[in-house]
Amino acid sequence: MPNATNVNINAKGKDENTFDAIVIGSGISGGWAAKELCEHGLKTLVLERGRNIVHNKDYPTATKHPWELQYRGNITREQLEANPKISKTYAFQEDVKHFFVEDKVHPYVEEKPFDWIRGYQVGGKSITWGRATQRWSKYEFINPAKFGYGIEWPIGYDDVAPWYSHVEKFIGICGNKDGIEAMPDGEFLPPFNMNCVESHLKESISKHYKDRYFVHARWAHLTEPKEIHLQQGRGKCQARNLCMRGCPYGGYFSSVSSTLPWATKTGNLTIRPDSVVHSIIYDPQKGKASGVRIIDANTKEVTEYFARIIFLNASALNTNLILLNSKSDRFPNGFGNDNGLLGKYVAFHNYRGSAGGLIEGFEDRYFKGRNPTDSILANYRNLRKQDTDYVGGFTTFGGGYRARNPEVQNACGGELKDAMAKPGPWHAYMYLQGETIPKEKNHVRLSDTEKDQWGIPLIVTHVEYDDNDEKMLKDFLTETADMLEKAGCKDIYTHDTKQAPGLDIHEMGGCRMGKDPKTSLLNKWNQFHNCKNVFVTDGACMTSTGNQSPSILYMTLTARAANHAVEELRKGNL
Ligand SMILES: Cc1cc2nc3c(=O)[nH]c(=O)nc-3n(C[C@H](O)[C@H](O)[C@H](O)COP(=O)(O)OP(=O)(O)OC[C@H]3O[C@@H](n4cnc5c(N)ncnc54)[C@H](O)[C@@H]3O)c2cc1C
Ligand code: SF4
Repeated sequence: MPNATNVNINAKGKDENTFDAIVIGSGISGGWAAKELCEHGLKTLVLERGRNIVHNKDYPTATKHPWELQYRGNITREQLEANPKISKTYAFQEDVKHFFVEDKVHPYVEEKPFDWIRGYQVGGKSITWGRATQRWSKYEFINPAKFGYGIEWPIGYDDVAPWYSHVEKFIGICGNKDGIEAMPDGEFLPPFNMNCVESHLKESISKHYKDRYFVHARWAHLTEPKEIHLQQGRGKCQARNLCMRGCPYGGYFSSVSSTLPWATKTGNLTIRPDSVVHSIIYDPQKGKASGVRIIDANTKEVTEYFARIIFLNASALNTNLILLNSKSDRFPNGFGNDNGLLGKYVAFHNYRGSAGGLIEGFEDRYFKGRNPTDSILANYRNLRKQDTDYVGGFTTFGGGYRARNPEVQNACGGELKDAMAKPGPWHAYMYLQGETIPKEKNHVRLSDTEKDQWGIPLIVTHVEYDDNDEKMLKDFLTETADMLEKAGCKDIYTHDTKQAPGLDIHEMGGCRMGKDPKTSLLNKWNQFHNCKNVFVTDGACMTSTGNQSPSILYMTLTARAANHAVEELRKGNL
C-alpha cells in the first residue's frame, strides 16, 4: 500500500498535488469512497490523520495468548487515570488500546458531558467496530417527518436497497432471512447458530408476543466466504472472538482488510497517512471547492492538494469540525453553511439500558466455539403508528452465555482446578440501542479560545439526553424484564448506565441531508446544496438516527454517492 513516502510533499508543483478525487478519512466510509472511485478509474488521494496500518503486519496482539500480554489483557491504573474518557469504552483494553486515541493527545471541550471515542489510524474505527450491520427499514426513513420529530429524508428505503446489496455482497454479512418489516433482509451468508438459551428466548418471545421477533442479528463476518471475498485475500471467520485486535484471517470487514487493498490494486489510489486535514479550499471564480489544506501530523508542514471532487469521511464530528473550520469569503461561517445549521441536530443512540437474569434448565448443555455475535430483537415500537408516550423505535441486542462457576471464587489448589472444570449457570442478557431525536440545541461548534497542537480550533460538544430518551429507556427496561420473566429467568436485574451521549460511538448529524436547502445542508446524493463537488457521506449526513447500527448505511450512502459523482463527472456537471 502506498504511504507518505510515496508522496513528495513540498517539492512538487500544483500538478503533482492534483488528483481526480480526494477522500478525507480512511475508515469505514472513506474506504468505500476510495474503492468505488478508484474502480471507476479516478486517481484518488485518501488523506488520513493517523499512522499507516497494513492488514496483518500491524496487528501486534492478534495471535497473542492471554499470558503473553503483560497485564493479561487489562489496562493499568496509570493508563486508566490518564484516560478517563477513552477507558469508558469496553474495547479500550491492553490488547486493543493502540487503536484508540488517548485523551490528552486529542482534547475537546465538553459543554455538556460527551464521551467521544475515536480511532485515528488508517482504517479508523473499522478495525475495532462491533460489526453489527442491520438494514434500516422504510419506517426509519419515513417516521421522523410523519410523527413530527424530524425533517423529511430526501431518500427512502427503495433508493438505498440496491446499494445495501452492493455493499453486503462485497463485505460479507452473515444473517438469516427472517422476513421482518422492521429489519429488512439482505444478501446474507449463513448465520452463526444460536445457543440453547438464545433459541429458548426466541421461542418464548414469539409465543408471548405476536409482533416481536428475536432472531440472529446481521454481522460483517465471513461464515462462508464467496469468491469475491477470497479475491480480497480474506478467509472464513474462525469464531475466535478476538476481532478488535485485527483479524489475521480477514474474517470480519474492515477497510484495511477489504476496501483499501482493493482500491490499491486498481493502481489509482494514493494514501497519505499523518495528514491532518485543516480545511476545504473554496475557489470563488469557479464557484466550487478546489482542494484540501493539510498539516503534516509530524512536521506540521502545510500542503495543499487539489481535486475535482472531495468526499468527507472523517467520522461525524471530525467532518463537522473540518467544515466549520473551512471559512472563506463565500462561506464565512463554515463550508456550505448558508443557513447556519452546520454543526446542529447532532444525535446519537441511546445505549443506557440493560437487563438480564439467571436461567435454569439447560445445565446439560454448553456452546461451541466463541461466537463473535449477538442475537437481536427487532424494533417493535412506533412502527406504523405511534403507540407509546415517546417517539422513535429501539433495537434490543441479546443473548445467553454460561458464566464462570461461582465456586471458583473461594477455592484453591485441587478444589480450584475441579471448580474451574465445571461451568457456571446460564445467564440471559439484553441491551438497548434506541433512536434519539435530532434537535437544534444539540450541536457542536469550534472553540473561540482553545486549539489543538496543529493550531486547529478544538470542537465544543453540547449534546444531551431529553425526556423522550428517558421514557424510551423506562419502557425498554419494563418490557425487557417482562420478556425475561416470561422466558423463566430468575434474579432479573435492570440497569440504567446513565452513560453520557457519545459512548454509544454512533454519533451522527451536524450536516444533514434534506430536500430543502433552508433546513438541510446536503441533497439526496450527499452533495452540498450550494457546492455540488463536495460530498459528505459519513455519519454527519444523517437526517435522523433510526434504531439500527449505522455504519452499513454510511457505506451504502457512500457507494451510492460515489457512483453518482462519477456519472456527474462524466457528464461534465462537476
Ligand atoms: C468498539 C466499537 C464498536 C462499534 N460497533 C459498531 C457496530 O456494531 N455497528 C456499527 O454500525 N457501528 C459500530 N461502531 C461505530 C463505527 O465504528 C463507526 O460508525 C464507523 O467507523 C464510522 O465510520 P467513518 O468512516 O465515519 O469513521 P471512522 O471509521 O472513524 O474513520 C474516520 C477516519 O477519519 C480520520 N480523520 C478524522 N479527522 C481527520 C482529519 N482532520 N484529517 C484526516 N483524517 C481524519 C480518522 O483518523 C479515521 O481514520 C463501533 C465503534 C466502536 C469503536
Ligand atoms: S471471530 Fe472471526 S473475525 Fe473475529 S478474530 Fe476470530 S476469525 Fe477473525
